[in-house]
Amino acid sequence: MSATDPPSSTPDPRHRATAASRPDTRPAHAGVAEILRLLREVYGEMPWRPHGDPISELILTILSQHTADTNSGRAFANLISAYPDWDAVRAAAAAGIAEATRAAGLSTTKAPRIKQVLQQIRDERGGYDLGFLRELPLDAARAWLMALPGVGPKTAACVLLFALGMPALPVDTHVFRVATRLGLLPAKATADAAHGILEAIVAPEQVYRFHVGLIKHGRHVCRAQRPLCGACVLNGVCPSSLAAKRLT
Ligand code: SF4
Repeated sequence: MSATDPPSSTPDPRHRATAASRPDTRPAHAGVAEILRLLREVYGEMPWRPHGDPISELILTILSQHTADTNSGRAFANLISAYPDWDAVRAAAAAGIAEATRAAGLSTTKAPRIKQVLQQIRDERGGYDLGFLRELPLDAARAWLMALPGVGPKTAACVLLFALGMPALPVDTHVFRVATRLGLLPAKATADAAHGILEAIVAPEQVYRFHVGLIKHGRHVCRAQRPLCGACVLNGVCPSSLAAKRLT
């Protein structure tokens, strides 16, 4: 059970044409293009290389809920070394899965959820290959994933973006905070609503760079506490810059 090599580094053009929420003719938001240009100066190119293993991405993302990536990565590694395949995980006792994934935290909650997800996928698909999602319009693929127990918009977007090369935009705490400060999200937007709002202004070919760039920037510069506005490459285009400077 390991991630396979990336099938491609560019999104399938069909997703641009079929995603109802992102019409083919929609131009890229000028502010987003400038933000990405500036972020590239600091963080370099961020090539999109979907790894092609959606079931692993799904389980890893469930493990990553409410914990740091290092913890969920360790829990995932333990899980795939403890069981020979996903069918064995589905059939295993929840207590055994919880023990194997303890590093991720909340493992007694996540373990039964993982079992339920695997069971539902097997019941519906007869196996664990989620490659068929690539053939669906983006919104249909997202809806299929979000019908699984405990799978919300962020988890679904991670599977679509990182594994399948489909331009869904995961909004984590960094993306949400930085996008709000940059004025791309209304002040009262919820994290779930932010997915649709941002996908409407970020062009499909920009989605991966936007996601990764805002996470990097949120971790290193536009931090939750005391953002480093004086050293920020986005200072000139950020409406929160002056307000944030007063906080430092
Ligand atoms: S100028 Fe300040 S608030 Fe705006 S993106 Fe940069 S660090 Fe964040």
